[in-house]
Amino acid sequence: MALIKQENRASILEALKNNGTMSRKDIASIVQLTPAAVTILVNDMIKDGIIKEAGELEEGDKRVGRKKILIDINYNYKYVLGINIEAEQINIGVSNISGDIIAETSWATDMDSEMKPEVFLKEIADKCVNLFWKENILKESILGVGVGIVGLVDNNTGVSKHAYGLWRQSVHVKGILENALEIPVVVDNNVRALAVAEMDYKSEQDISDMLFVKHGPGIGSAMIVGKKIHYGANNKAGEIGHAIMNLEGELCKCGKRGCLETVASKQAILKNIKAIFSMKETPLLYSKCNGSADDISLDKVFEAAFSGGDRERKILRQVAVNMAMAISNAVSLYDPQQVILYGKTFWYEQFLNEFKCIIKEMILVEDLDGFITISKLNYKENYIGGIALAIRKFFFDVGGTL
Ligand SMILES: [Zn+2]
Repeated sequence: MALIKQENRASILEALKNNGTMSRKDIASIVQLTPAAVTILVNDMIKDGIIKEAGELEEGDKRVGRKKILIDINYNYKYVLGINIEAEQINIGVSNISGDIIAETSWATDMDSEMKPEVFLKEIADKCVNLFWKENILKESILGVGVGIVGLVDNNTGVSKHAYGLWRQSVHVKGILENALEIPVVVDNNVRALAVAEMDYKSEQDISDMLFVKHGPGIGSAMIVGKKIHYGANNKAGEIGHAIMNLEGELCKCGKRGCLETVASKQAILKNIKAIFSMKETPLLYSKCNGSADDISLDKVFEAAFSGGDRERKILRQVAVNMAMAISNAVSLYDPQQVILYGKTFWYEQFLNEFKCIIKEMILVEDLDGFITISKLNYKENYIGGIALAIRKFFFDVGGTL
């Protein structure tokens, strides 16, 4: 398809996505093309199945009887596949163009140091094909695959440069999965992918500048500037987990000392708790775990902390302080419209309240609850990040079809 035609089709889809159903005439005024040109493009796209006619609307004077035929995106035109790869779990899901999930599955990441990344990724591809079979999804109906993966990713080449907890070398994730699945693939860092999903599918207001922060085994962030991910010169923008909190702190997996991750990640919390775990120091947690340090989980730590466990509470407070400092610094630098928090930690209401009380003193905004909000994405469905990448790349950006 000629580039100009593709761009015009992409602007028509963008207009329909932002405004809902519209007549050909209204589309023409938004995308700034002549009504005749829009009619040709729209008729072509209807033939391709990308958009459809969606009823009529009476226009103006009823006696004249002119009717507008409304056009809408055919959101069930095709499907996309989203894959989320993290050190603890892998989730995959299939959705239509509006992000409605029609099939999904997840499993615990099973990768030992002996396993080659190629083998690991081919196993993921096999599970995707199994899901297609099980749910009667034709491979031909999948427009593209979006992959969110932990660590450093070159989004242009689809190469994962260091997937923390999985591999340290460069792995051509896009190439391996495209070979195995025979479907086009786009790859990005998982936090960036989730930020795109939040903006495209969950934000109620029109947000163009957003700081998205994910707390979990690692701590990452993505900065959306002008509705686009800000990558930085070396593709490292948003590495909030490696903001330095303490010059003499612990050595981080990134090679620096005292990073936010070393004092506030899920691992850091568990490590600090384990160091003081005893009948005397942490009696509540101790009894919840029947005295076994192996039974300590994040859930139990939070429960103990907020039902009277002083030492547990102190450790969580320090986590909240460190997270608040790093986030308020990022807010000073980027000046976002909104900060979105993602991750199970923030679903603990008492922890969230404590965090907000602390950050309130650091960022002076009037409506703190409107400015800092919890992500509306379901943390169990984090393949939605990959889905959002694929829908942008293989549908909206290309005018519906490659
Ligand atoms: Zn670090």
